[in-house]
This record gives sequence, C-alpha cells and structure tokens, in this order.
Amino acid sequence: MILPHDPPTGEDAALDLDLIRKYAIPGPRYTSYPPANRFHDRLADLDLDGVIAADNRDPSRPLSLYFHLPFCESRCWYCGCTTIITRRQDWAATYLAELKKEIALVAARIDRSRPVEQLHFGGGTPTFFSAELLQELGDVLHRTFRFAEDAELSIEIDPRVVSAEQVKVLADLGINRASLGIQDTNTEVQQAIHRVQPDELNRKAVDLLRLAGIRDINFDLIYGLPLQTVDTVAQTVKDVLALRPDRLSVFSYAHVPWIKPAQRIFDQRGQMPGPEDKLAMFGVISRALREAGFIDIGLDHFARPDDPLAVARQEGTLQRNFQGYSTRAGASLYAFGISSISSSPDAYWQNPKSLAAYRQALAEGRLPTEKGYRLTAEDKRRRRLIMGIMCDRRLDFKQLSEDWDCDFARTYEAELQSLKPLREEGLVEWDDAGLAITRRGEPLLRVVAMAFDQTLVRKGRAHALTV
Ligand code: SF4
Repeated sequence: MILPHDPPTGEDAALDLDLIRKYAIPGPRYTSYPPANRFHDRLADLDLDGVIAADNRDPSRPLSLYFHLPFCESRCWYCGCTTIITRRQDWAATYLAELKKEIALVAARIDRSRPVEQLHFGGGTPTFFSAELLQELGDVLHRTFRFAEDAELSIEIDPRVVSAEQVKVLADLGINRASLGIQDTNTEVQQAIHRVQPDELNRKAVDLLRLAGIRDINFDLIYGLPLQTVDTVAQTVKDVLALRPDRLSVFSYAHVPWIKPAQRIFDQRGQMPGPEDKLAMFGVISRALREAGFIDIGLDHFARPDDPLAVARQEGTLQRNFQGYSTRAGASLYAFGISSISSSPDAYWQNPKSLAAYRQALAEGRLPTEKGYRLTAEDKRRRRLIMGIMCDRRLDFKQLSEDWDCDFARTYEAELQSLKPLREEGLVEWDDAGLAITRRGEPLLRVVAMAFDQTLVRKGRAHALTV
C-alpha cells in the first residue's frame, strides 16, 4: 500500500537540528532540474526556435512571465543577485526600450492566445523604475499578452525605494502580490550589511500596498548575516509578524566572496556567525513561525494556513520553479532582461548577465539567449522524481511504473539503495507502492531529492550518503 500523503499542520514535529547537522550536505535548490550549472552555450544543440514551436503545440498550456529589472541605488553587501548599481534614471528608460524589443521578438514566436497565469517583476529593485516607466511596461504587456482572470501578478518591493504613485500604478496594472525584502530589523546588523531600513519604512510600504488593494504580502528574511544572533533573528520575526504577512521566505545567507566580491568585507571585519549559530538561528525562526500558526511549505518557505501556497501544499498540488514554490501548474516560463531564465517542458534557456551582451543581441535583432539546456527523456523522468519529492514529499511507484512502462523500484534500485541510511534514521520510508518523506525528514528534502540527481550520481556525490 502506498504510504499516505501526510498534510502539514502548524504543529509539525520540532526541527531536529542534530539530524540536519548530520545529513545536510550542500546541493542544488532544485528550482530547476537539471540545475542551472549544467547549462551550456551550444545554442545549435538547444534549437530554441524548435523548442518554442514545440511549446506552442499545446495552446492550453499557460504562460508565466518574468522580468528582471536589475538596477539598485546602492549595493547591499550580502547581495547575490544580478544587479547594476546606479542612480541614473535614464538607464532604466534605455533598459525598458530594450525589454520592449525582447518582448516583440518573443511575442513573434509564441502563441499569444495562451493565457498568462503568472507575472513577476524581480530584480534588482523593480521600483527603481519610475511610476511612468512601470506604467509603460505594464501597458506593453497588457497589449501584447492575454492575462487570465485570476492571474497572479507579483513584484519585489524594496521598502526604502517605493512611492504611493508607483504603488497606485502597480495596483492599476493588476499586481496583486508583493514581496518585501526585510532581511533583519536590527540596526547594527543593517549597518553591517549596508542596508539601513528602519521598521517604520516596512510598515509604511505594507500600508501603502494594502491600501492600494495589493493584499498578499510576503517578506524575505535572511539568517547567517554579520552580527546576527539568535536574539536578533527572534526579534526580527516578532517585528515582521506584527505586520501580518501571508508568507515568509527565510533564506540562508550564501557567503560566496569569490563570486560576489562585496561580501569580502564580512570576512575582513570578522563579524560572521559560525555554522552552528546559523543552524540555531534557523531553529529559532522556524519554531517562532510554526508557533504563530504558519505552515512550513518546504525549504525556506512558510505561509498562513489559508494562503494558496499552504492550500496547495495541503492538497498536494504544489509546484516548484525559479521563484521557489508556486501554486500554478504546468506553465511555460518566458523570462526577459539580463540573466533571466526561461523554461518549457523540453528546455531551459538563459539571457546573458552582461548588459552589453544583452544589448548587442537585441541591436542585431536576435533573441539574447546565451546558454541553455535541452532535456533528454531521462532528464525529464528525473525532474519528475525530484519535483515529486520537493513538492509532494512522495513518489507513487505504481503510477511511475505505468507511465514509464518499467518496474520503477528495479530501474531506480541504486538510487533507492543510496537512501538506506536515511531510511534507517526514519527520514524516508518506502514499500512496493511508493516512497514518502516522513515528518522528521522534511527539513532534508533536498538531500533525498539529490539521490535521484543524475548530475550528482555521475560525480558520485549522491552516493556520499551511504558513507
Ligand atoms: S536592493 Fe536587493 S537586489 Fe539590490 S543590492 Fe540590495 S539585495 Fe541586491
């Protein structure tokens, strides 16, 4: 008998930090499979026009649109995003002209009768763009695409850089969800990360958004930043809960100074918390959110029980994409702007991170794709397994065997074997009918998913679980 799907509650088992300490190993976040580090620049192999033509063959498949708006007025030293730091407003206007060219190139290739079910403005700081420029971008999008009635239209908001005028334009364009970057409310931590953001600004931004009718609010927090302690993160959670968010994303700070040189200053100042402190911080945040009635969606996401994400988690219809967890199934993602990644059932493709390369391609009248990946049949099977684990926390062996005309447990015997140590710890269970992650195993979803990741199996890393 297949193991039952076990919906979450606000009273999930306490986080077992010892288990995380023992088993958590670095690995992909599986916002895609294969992960983006497998993308290559052999564009002839990718055959993007063929990929898009194949995607058009199902006119009922919805569209999801992403726009990367990369400008920021100043650099937050922890930042891992693709950003351009400037105060020059004219750069935003020039960039918008380029986005319009890219929209025209993509629109000429896709079936525009397909409904747009999701739109996201990410960055950078999308509100670096003036109200007029946001209006202009929104108008082009509404002229070009057909939006579904219940489309989810969202934006990232920096509470330090947002005006009532911008919020009004966004609400008029149909934006119904906003994600606010808060990170930590402690002033000393904010000074250490070069992002001073008094709590008053957060409250003001939330009030502006709600007043304009943008009611679904997410906050981004980060733990593991310089000068953070369990006390500062506990206070941060208290502060942000007072603003009544619907969702929270709680990210672990990624310290990669060899990729992001601005982070070097943290090492120079010696203010970084250690790995044990970081784990304790996550424990404190996770416990506080559960006690406040939030549902643990998976990885770093928490939502109120009545939020669509929590409902999808409850009903087993959760999806995963480049923005993390999502409620919208089966959409193809068309992404615009530097560094953005698109996906269809058959492929992923990415724009250049360099503004000059992006600009050059558009000046030559071609799609600015720099690299990508076309999935093999085996990649697609493994993507289904990994997303099944990441979203549903289970695999139905009978269904998979039927769909793939194989004996699933035999075909993937080596992968299941590699999970035995986790099974012995009571983190994952399986029988002839299926596999399920237990409550204890939920914080280690990624580790279970990694057992089915062929890109790691090839390097022998998934088998590291057996030692
Ligand atoms: S505002 Fe956001 S995107 Fe810009 S530097 Fe700060 S963290 Fe990065």
